[in-house]
Amino acid sequence: MDRVETDEHGRAYVVDFKTGKSAPTKDEVAHHPQLAVYQLAVREGALDEVFGGERPEPGGAELVQLRQAAPKKEGGDALPKVQAQEPLTGEWVGELLANAAGRVLDERFTPSTGQHCTTCAFRASCSAQPEGRQVVD
Ligand code: SF4
Repeated sequence: MDRVETDEHGRAYVVDFKTGKSAPTKDEVAHHPQLAVYQLAVREGALDEVFGGERPEPGGAELVQLRQAAPKKEGGDALPKVQAQEPLTGEWVGELLANAAGRVLDERFTPSTGQHCTTCAFRASCSAQPEGRQVVD
């Protein structure tokens, strides 16, 4: 978490600054794992100390894309692009975390391809990509 704010309801709002050139889509932000885990951490007490010993509700989180301009209606070139995730609902984050923990415990590290591959620095050595496939049996 780069910054935490208190919203008008006293909830904790997490801000994460990004310096990359690419940004997730609106749908990806809605289930952005990093933002969601930050919110889960808030829900589980990670910020209790800075909230005076009280446990704040997570009020959402956002990515601030420092190298990308906001849309014109949101300020244009003068402001960075902001991508917000709503406060958590449902159990999907817990399931995501349990799945990740299971993979680590089982040492199942199968690469998962997607839009994120276009900017990945490991692409040339990734077994899920044609250029990274094993050539010797
Ligand atoms: S290229 Fe391979 S390692 Fe990189 S993001 Fe895609 S699946 Fe993951």
